[in-house]
Amino acid sequence: MSNLDEWILHGDEMRRPLLVNPKISESSKLIIVGAGLSGLCCAYRIAKKRPDLEIIIHEKSSRPGGVIATWKEDEWVCDVAVNATRPHPAFWRLIDDLNLNSLFKPSNPVAKSRWVLLDGKRHKLTWRTIFKIGPIKLLRSIKRSKSGGLSVSELIPNKQIADAMCLGIVNDTSENVDADFLFPSLTKFGQNPPVKKSKLNKLISQSYPIFSPKKGSIASLKGGMGKLVESLVEQISNLENVSIVYGGESESLDSISKTYNVPLESILWAAPNPKFENNSSKISIFAIGYSFQQVSHIEKGYGTLVPDEDFPVSGILHESDIHHSQRCPKGHRLFRLMVPHNRWDKETDSVLKCAESLLAHNPVIFKKIGERKIPSYTPGHMAKLSQISLECSYVGWSYSGVSITHVIDQSERIAELF
Ligand SMILES: Cc1cc2nc3c(=O)[nH]c(=O)nc-3n(C[C@H](O)[C@H](O)[C@H](O)COP(=O)(O)OP(=O)(O)OC[C@H]3O[C@@H](n4cnc5c(N)ncnc54)[C@H](O)[C@@H]3O)c2cc1C
Repeated sequence: MSNLDEWILHGDEMRRPLLVNPKISESSKLIIVGAGLSGLCCAYRIAKKRPDLEIIIHEKSSRPGGVIATWKEDEWVCDVAVNATRPHPAFWRLIDDLNLNSLFKPSNPVAKSRWVLLDGKRHKLTWRTIFKIGPIKLLRSIKRSKSGGLSVSELIPNKQIADAMCLGIVNDTSENVDADFLFPSLTKFGQNPPVKKSKLNKLISQSYPIFSPKKGSIASLKGGMGKLVESLVEQISNLENVSIVYGGESESLDSISKTYNVPLESILWAAPNPKFENNSSKISIFAIGYSFQQVSHIEKGYGTLVPDEDFPVSGILHESDIHHSQRCPKGHRLFRLMVPHNRWDKETDSVLKCAESLLAHNPVIFKKIGERKIPSYTPGHMAKLSQISLECSYVGWSYSGVSITHVIDQSERIAELF
């Protein structure tokens, strides 16, 4: 495959390091640690390519999917973690291969707008936001960032906007987040494409199966992201060469190697690395629903980020506006609230009060639907990845990319090696 073909398949994911031991493809038995999206995707892709290879997924909990889960109560449907995908052909290819095409649709075009709450006022994020950041300052910091290892606050010279972007993606403030990790194409981390970006983008846009996504759009699955996990598990259970073992914590690489009698290079670690357990932050997720009339003053959109740490809520996502599929009973609207633990007193009432001040009083439904840990990606994170010793291979959001497109694309890149 030519370098250009690889860039068309994987796009900017090519900038991110693949943490793979080259001997992995010589394995006669492969152990995948972790049955989150990364572990499941790798098992599915590798097993289809190599039906002769025995694959065992070793998962510490009693369920597959890792952080992904979809909460349902009567007609209310809300994802606890990822709810939609930005365009990337690897995601579209996975949906196509899993035969989920009829459930997969672009998000609602009227729900594109994103806002940031700055000094108590909602500011709409558009290209004009660059003027709020300062275009000259921004250009200078982008140039400086090419030397590597900067934080997002050094890359985006407006603290509130930089914080809002980081909170919305990694639940952290901008001085704690690696710019190479979050914006590798801006900082020019890793290798560059062999053709101009505009030409590459055109070639990529022609490569999508199912439908070509519009610029700036996202897409989601009817019934929530839990469907993706269900479908992967179902397909895997139909493959004779893959099995999933639940309820087994893996203390170390050595213990997995002994338990399954495989060399270290036959282990694909799709969970946080026990050797450098990343610091992580915690977030609680709440669903809040209203009748249409109660929130008629809230413009339709994607959502609002709240960088001000005096508010326990850091983001409000307009779940029932975003998706093409129904997420609440007719005549209602559903919102999802992100509540970082480092700015919350752990009283449910303070989340409710905050939500009521930002949305409306007396919701029809208000529920905590989950709690999640999010890995930390401190400045220099991407540079440090090259120092990991590759006794085995590593994949997943603890390493070189936070989004599901990254995780899914990496599973394709790893399967290509078999
Ligand atoms: C609140 C939230 C919102 C998000 N929103 C988005 C979004 O809008 N867009 C987007 O693209 N992405 C989003 N993400 C990120 C996305 O969900 C992740 O990229 C993806 O699900 C990570 O999958 P994973 O398999 O790498 O990790 P995980 O889901 O963490 O899976 C790891 C698995 O390994 C298991 N495990 C851990 N340690 C061990 C061990 N020692 N032994 C055995 N098993 C072990 C765990 O139990 C788990 O099942 C969001 C995440 C969260 C939490």
